[in-house]
Amino acid sequence: MAQGILRRYGEHLPITDRTPDLSLCEGSTPLIPLINLGRELSVELYAKFDGLNPTGSFKDRGMVLAVAKALEEGARSVVCASTGNTSASAAAYAARAGIPCFVVLPAGNVAMGKLAQAIAYGAKVVPIEDNFDVALDLARKGAEEMGMAIVNSVNPYRLMGQRSASWEICDELGDRPDWLVLPVGNAGNISAYREGFDYYSSLGRCSGLPRMVGVQASGSAPLALGREFPEPETVATAIRIGRPVNAEKAKKAVSDSGGTFLAVDDDEILKAQRLLAGRDGIFAEPASCAGVAGLMKLKEQGELPEGIRIVTVLTGNGLKDPDALLSRISPIEPVKAQWSVLEEIFRS
Ligand SMILES: *Cc1c(COP(=O)(O)O)cnc(C)c1O
Repeated sequence: MAQGILRRYGEHLPITDRTPDLSLCEGSTPLIPLINLGRELSVELYAKFDGLNPTGSFKDRGMVLAVAKALEEGARSVVCASTGNTSASAAAYAARAGIPCFVVLPAGNVAMGKLAQAIAYGAKVVPIEDNFDVALDLARKGAEEMGMAIVNSVNPYRLMGQRSASWEICDELGDRPDWLVLPVGNAGNISAYREGFDYYSSLGRCSGLPRMVGVQASGSAPLALGREFPEPETVATAIRIGRPVNAEKAKKAVSDSGGTFLAVDDDEILKAQRLLAGRDGIFAEPASCAGVAGLMKLKEQGELPEGIRIVTVLTGNGLKDPDALLSRISPIEPVKAQWSVLEEIFRS
């Protein structure tokens, strides 16, 4: 039977006998060999496809624990700020737990699929006329003033639950990969991976940290470019964050692992999205493809060693944001429903 994070990895998580047994069967996502892309890059490449979680992103790994602990601690509602995926996940687990969920979003900058999810799961959606960073300040205020449980990555249980992804990778490969390449927004996930590898290493289940490569969108790259982004802008809305909450932890993860931060522009991200889908049959949302774009960039610059084992984390599902792709191609016009017309097309 499928089991969620709290059952599969409960012994490594802060679970008590009062923690509710919450689960949507999150986690246990496939580590898919990217056979074709890997060959092109001359590396052994895998995708940890976390877009196959129940709400379509890795956020479910931490959210299940955050909401379970909120229930255990007597919270009667949850609140979050979100670029989209956190709200979808919070709304789903709050629905499952039977408590209300409030989500504060930057108006106009949340992918349609994610917004639809939050509404479907019954969250109270509050778009604000400002960006994510301001939304987070307001959500924190809700937590302080009204005792709502805040389930953004400032909630320590989120990162604890997210460690499970690193454990799954090690359990499957028998060790850590040589490199871990992933998109960075608020920098919680890269920090969680670091903590997860450290912890597994302390149990003798992997050999230290992989080289961690955190990839940001060049219009929203405070860590990669070392300056402030008061008005972050990128097609990869899930990493459109100017002031990463976990910046310090993430910098440490990267430097301790001998890794690096990298910036890729929107064109490179969208090209990577098409390449990943077109070569290896996996459709991931734009933010998720920043890692692949980063690998392509390193390859072009001659900075990608051959033959190493790399895991790139595909953080979210492409179906969440079809508009990122469709709005950039010319419309596909219908043709006459005649065999002669089709025949010509099929032969071309
Ligand atoms: C949240 C999210 C990210 C960024 O993760 P951080 O922990 O904020 O760095 C990347 N991709 C997707 C799809 C996300 O939902």
